[in-house]
Amino acid sequence: MTLAERLESVRSGIADAAREAGRDPAGIRTIVVTKFHPAALVRELYTLGVRDFGESRHQEARTKAEALSDLSIAWHFVGQLQSKKARQVRAYANVIHSVDRASLAMALQSSDATVDCFVQLNLSGDPRRGGVPFAGPGGEASLERLTELVVTTPGLRLVGVMAVAPLEADPRRAFATVRVASELVARIAPSATSISTGMSGDYREAILEGATHLRIGSAITGNRPTPG
Ligand SMILES: *Cc1c(COP(=O)(O)O)cnc(C)c1O
Repeated sequence: MTLAERLESVRSGIADAAREAGRDPAGIRTIVVTKFHPAALVRELYTLGVRDFGESRHQEARTKAEALSDLSIAWHFVGQLQSKKARQVRAYANVIHSVDRASLAMALQSSDATVDCFVQLNLSGDPRRGGVPFAGPGGEASLERLTELVVTTPGLRLVGVMAVAPLEADPRRAFATVRVASELVARIAPSATSISTGMSGDYREAILEGATHLRIGSAITGNRPTPG
């Protein structure tokens, strides 16, 4: 399949899942994750109508954002983020999906510009994965604390929750847990109702559980080159 065919195939898969869920596909935003791929691929996707792109590594993201500054792209930072890189990521990212701890929220604060952000949940129980631990004991309290901090931090606009389904888990169940977390966040921040879940292998389940933002890589881009 060509790039255009893969994009079309994912778009129709999204429309099918939305229909199955009784949802309007217009309420679902697809971010194409282009990590490890060259800027030329982003440009090609742009000519096919894609405007939202996701990256997970700061150096690479910044290089691409600079090389493509002639295009009107919304850049979504979806990877783990070190606090010392936070200000640099803010400089080009329109949306940050991976706010997962107080120190990072503090490092992202700004008095002159606002960036949209998601609070990332860790459903895996593995602390090396990004995200505020939500699956275990104390998860709700940790999420509430971080949510309260983010909504009071200048320069951050909380839009919702983000998660990656754990490898071994049933994605539908994982995304049902995200929905519970989303309701908890929306009680504190009523406008933060977005849900960033769903990747190449599980976007259907994500849509059935309310995803508003999908982060899709390989199903559209093809296999990723080895990271350089
Ligand atoms: C790479 C990545 C994706 C896309 O993964 P695919 O399986 O290629 O669709 C989505 N979210 C995050 C956080 C990623 O790092």
